[in-house]
Amino acid sequence: MRVGIMGGTFDPIHTGHLIAAERARVGAGLDEVWLMPANRPPHKPNVPKATTQQRWEMVCLAAESNPFFRPLDIEITKGGVSYSIDTIELLCQEYPDTEFSYIIGADMVQYLPQWHRIDDIVRHIRFIGLARPGYDLDMAHMPVNIRESVSIFPMPLVEVSSTMIREERRERGSVRYLVSDAVYAYMEVNRLYES
Ligand code: ATP
Repeated sequence: MRVGIMGGTFDPIHTGHLIAAERARVGAGLDEVWLMPANRPPHKPNVPKATTQQRWEMVCLAAESNPFFRPLDIEITKGGVSYSIDTIELLCQEYPDTEFSYIIGADMVQYLPQWHRIDDIVRHIRFIGLARPGYDLDMAHMPVNIRESVSIFPMPLVEVSSTMIREERRERGSVRYLVSDAVYAYMEVNRLYES
């Protein structure tokens, strides 16, 4: 089985994530995409605004919108800072017959050279890179082992971020349709990100 892992802070999960996951699934011919919230992302200085439980519940709700999506709690269960190399080793142990790739947006593509133990990571898995407004997918400046580990698939530019959604909520704007209906309802009921 071929599985794409889409990791993220998902604070909250939004349509940019879901479109990227779906594009990667179809483009790379994946059997499934597993949506995996990080416990504590190593590259983000601020702690997430929503609780870990809330981020997880929103990922579960979003995953229900697509029969090929599934939520994965491996990093939350492990706890601590979520380094991809640790996760990849765990996944390979737990699912020895599954071929994993990582789905990332262009901002993360540009950040790849800074990933903790990236040289080990690219020996284990391949990356699927997708366009994101404000970031290019040019990898000419990167070491060849990293550059060659990334395949790019078409993706419409989706100018949505979790930051934008949190700000919009704080200012009482509408984020409807920027997140799935179920996630929208969850944020309303729990008054998430309102202040
Ligand atoms: P924040 O605004 O809080 O920094 P974010 O919107 O960037 O969050 P993350 O959960 O950090 O969301 O992103 C997880 C993954 O999804 C990353 O690989 C990121 O590149 C990708 N991604 C997020 N938003 C988009 C988008 N609009 N288009 C393409 N990829 C995206």
